[in-house]
Amino acid sequence: MNAITPLKKAQPDQSSLSYPIAEPPAPGTVIAVAPGVFWLRMPLPFVLNHINLWLLEDGDGWTIVDCGFSTDEARGCWEQIFARYLNGKPVTRVIVTHFHPDHIGLCDWLCKQHQLLPWMTKGEYLQAHLVHKRLGGIEPEYMRELMMRHGLDDARMKWIEEREHLYARGVPTLPHAHRRIRDNETIAIGAHAWRVVAGHGHSPEHASLYCEKLGVFIAGDMLLPRISTNVSVWPAEPESDPVGEFLDSLARYATLDACTLVLPSHGLPFQGLHARVSALREHHRVRLERVTQACGVTQGPQRAVDVLPVLFDRTFDDHHLLFAMGEAIAHLNCLMHRGVLRRSVNGSGNYQFESTGKSL
Ligand SMILES: [Zn+2]
Repeated sequence: MNAITPLKKAQPDQSSLSYPIAEPPAPGTVIAVAPGVFWLRMPLPFVLNHINLWLLEDGDGWTIVDCGFSTDEARGCWEQIFARYLNGKPVTRVIVTHFHPDHIGLCDWLCKQHQLLPWMTKGEYLQAHLVHKRLGGIEPEYMRELMMRHGLDDARMKWIEEREHLYARGVPTLPHAHRRIRDNETIAIGAHAWRVVAGHGHSPEHASLYCEKLGVFIAGDMLLPRISTNVSVWPAEPESDPVGEFLDSLARYATLDACTLVLPSHGLPFQGLHARVSALREHHRVRLERVTQACGVTQGPQRAVDVLPVLFDRTFDDHHLLFAMGEAIAHLNCLMHRGVLRRSVNGSGNYQFESTGKSL
């Protein structure tokens, strides 16, 4: 590991993003991105075909941040990393940012090997178990009911059942205990203090990690350089406002140092944190504006399924349609929470949204 020179930080251009490392690490290898902070990448069996994971030097051991989706290939990558890069020191801690299968998938496998409890927020720990066991509104019939309520045809819901199996495929087993981490808690990792920054809107209690001294922010899925984080309404909380929650989380990230190197779970590490926060705010502002106009007086009340073309300029396969619907409901709920739209039920039992006359 010592042969790898950490990245030198440049003063970033605040108006755009810069990517100090052009090429990601090959599978089973690592790249140093800051003193004691190493980047590794694992394959994912999706269109989004990779996840970035992080290895932090931690005194006599190593801390792993996020675990990868359970595949033989990903397990093979970990074994190569363990054999080549740990300098004979054990893995002494596993931190999980959130419950999604690409992040928590191999957590139990890693924790059992090293006899560890995963460090994660209670919200993510509980959510992982609920989704795994299909309890508390996660069951397919509730997803079907939510989508039906918002206007989606039965014929487009075939993927719902399959989606449920996908979680168990990526997360074959889960640990039955955890070490709880909380917002603002400081975790000493090696010589450095890392602060937990909880974020919302993408998952219940997503944990990002900020080290002020190193100027590094392990963002998880909350701050991605090229794609906007999925913010969806799910059946267990149909009235929720994940867009509002996500925008509140962005406000917290905007207080971090402008020179911070952001380590995202997908894409390349980048500088230009404030530019990215501004771009994501604008992304959602434009979408909220478009939805407000679509539900205005001329068009009359609109359902989530009706505003899909307003939010997205493409069509979706059945899998991605569920995420798109979740995002459409999220934008409508946000406007309802702000008093810009009101919700009612039409003659077919679908929710429809119309302008209250209040502007955004
Ligand atoms: Zn995620």
